[in-house]
Amino acid sequence: LLELGTCAGCGVKLQTESVENLGYIPQSALEREPLICQRCFRIKNYNEASSVAIDQDDFLRLLGGIAETNSLVVHIVDLFDFEGSLISGLQRFVGNNPVLLVVNKVDLLPKGMNMNRLLNWVQKQAKAQGLRTVDIVLCSAKRNIGFDRVVQALAEHRGDRDVYVVGATNVGKSTLINRIIRDYSDLDRELTTSRYPGTTLDAVHIPLDDGHDIIDTPGIVYHHRLTEMVPRGVLQALLPDKPIKQIVYQLNEQQTLFIGSLARFDFVEGPRQSFTLYLSNALPVHRTKLERADELYANHRGEMLAPPTREQLEDIPGWTRHRMTIKRGTDKDIVISGLGWIRINDTEGALLDIYAPKGIRVMLRDALI
Ligand code: GDP
Repeated sequence: LLELGTCAGCGVKLQTESVENLGYIPQSALEREPLICQRCFRIKNYNEASSVAIDQDDFLRLLGGIAETNSLVVHIVDLFDFEGSLISGLQRFVGNNPVLLVVNKVDLLPKGMNMNRLLNWVQKQAKAQGLRTVDIVLCSAKRNIGFDRVVQALAEHRGDRDVYVVGATNVGKSTLINRIIRDYSDLDRELTTSRYPGTTLDAVHIPLDDGHDIIDTPGIVYHHRLTEMVPRGVLQALLPDKPIKQIVYQLNEQQTLFIGSLARFDFVEGPRQSFTLYLSNALPVHRTKLERADELYANHRGEMLAPPTREQLEDIPGWTRHRMTIKRGTDKDIVISGLGWIRINDTEGALLDIYAPKGIRVMLRDALI
């Protein structure tokens, strides 16, 4: 076996097996001197950051290194999967460094949302998770909403520090960094290598015009998010591109909703009431009677009930049932991490069963909208 050594740009161990993982270098690039990984190559030559992923344990080791630096930590989360993309324990690992929370993908919320209310909600949730932030900014990296505010907050809180950008995979970290690089960097200078004490993990330093670096860290893979479990073809359907449509269902007890073959919602018991679904518009919802649900699923999974296709389903674990007893007067969301959420509208009480692939986080939270 050929020993490839490490990347001359970021110092990570090189590998030719997996494009999405750290240190990937295509076979064809092995001739070039010096050897650099695809991620560094793209930043250097195209001013473009690309997504790479690592597991949570490795990431936490990397975070431990941040505590020893003097930096501003920018934590990007995905508003569409807020709880699922929040890095738990971040506070412990960044030490005394300030954390700027950037909440991306606000473009997905239905038009006319009250932004102050949204900001309050985010503040409350972040605090409940033990995260202290110097500031919270709502933005859309893709639609260029709030980007000025991000830049302003960076300038305001950075002082004389480097900026570490951290986040889970698929939250839009590269999209945001690319925007920053385009506006603020001068890549004639070299990308530099950084090594964290006690680890072999590395991150890409991107020099900005003002002499400081912005440091792109690998995205964390959280296996409790549906976005990290499904094959690529399904991911496109899961990640909404346009504002999500809210679909209201008036249900009687003993009725069932299928979201493709990805999840199932049973209204087991309770007075007739409405539930509002917030999902990517590309996901079809199928309604049936609870007594017919098992049979319908057995006969139509991966076909009428899709995505995923029957073939893609083979790579996705079977369902786990989550039973929830909702008390009277509750305004809550049932979140299925990476898929979306179902709002329970000022209920008179309800007994619900939610089915989602084993390992996917299903939880109750204060209503977002
Ligand atoms: P990373 O894995 O965190 O680097 O995420 P990427 O930048 O690769 O983005 C992941 C997915 O989210 C891609 O499909 C992007 O097009 C999409 N995305 C990124 N930012 C936004 C945004 O502000 N709004 C929406 N709707 N999608 C976004």
